[in-house]
Amino acid sequence: MKKIQRKTMLYKTGVEYGDYTMNHTQGCSHGCKYPCYAFLMAKRFGRVKTYEEWKRPVIVENTLELLDKEIPKLKEKISSVHLCFTTDPFMLGYNEIKQMSINSIKKLNQEGIKCTVLTKGLLPIELTMLSKENEYGITLVSLDETYREKYEPGASMYKDRIESLFQMHKAGFKTWVSIEPYPTPNIVTQDIYKILSEIAFADKIIFGRTNYSKEISSYKKNKEFYNNEAQKVIEFCNEKNINYHIKKGTVTSNSSE
Ligand code: SF4
Repeated sequence: MKKIQRKTMLYKTGVEYGDYTMNHTQGCSHGCKYPCYAFLMAKRFGRVKTYEEWKRPVIVENTLELLDKEIPKLKEKISSVHLCFTTDPFMLGYNEIKQMSINSIKKLNQEGIKCTVLTKGLLPIELTMLSKENEYGITLVSLDETYREKYEPGASMYKDRIESLFQMHKAGFKTWVSIEPYPTPNIVTQDIYKILSEIAFADKIIFGRTNYSKEISSYKKNKEFYNNEAQKVIEFCNEKNINYHIKKGTVTSNSSE
């Protein structure tokens, strides 16, 4: 696996539900085609040239050294560190990345810093040995494996992903699910209640629309659709006493615009 060095690791994210974040890998073997915003940005800023290159992840080999330098300086400002917004900390088949993710979380926890994790891979059981403050999440936008094979070709199967999250829940951790980027019915016909019922054990659900996609914008009723689906998520979460966050831009006031 190719390795690179970086100058910095921890930074404050602009993502609406995040605090500090780290991305200790460049690229992602899951190769999502919604499209993946991180890939679009990496391509735009010349960090990768092609989708094929993006799918061959490169690890930041000095990650732990950077954390040793940065944690003492930032410790007082940080309330949590998220892994990851521009790559996946537990991408399938990459043991070296998995180990680096676990070691990074361990290091942050030792300094009293809580971590939140989001993956489309599988949450390894070793995470249950780390701080009980950590929160673990998966992205889940469908239960349809035909959809996954087309849009998340390198990611874990949905049932395995849900099971790995459930194991974290059973071990006493707070769990969350990101239902984003949610597809419109011209891409896949599905009942959101079926997805919600599979993850009703989670403590928090984040729901958001798909952006930067011609397939979505060609679906004329997309605004009305997202308003309705968001309402279903809100009602389901209220009924089950689950926290929720609807991403900005998902609900719009004028569905006929
Ligand atoms: S898992 Fe996330 S970072 Fe990886 S390709 Fe998919 S959307 Fe991009």
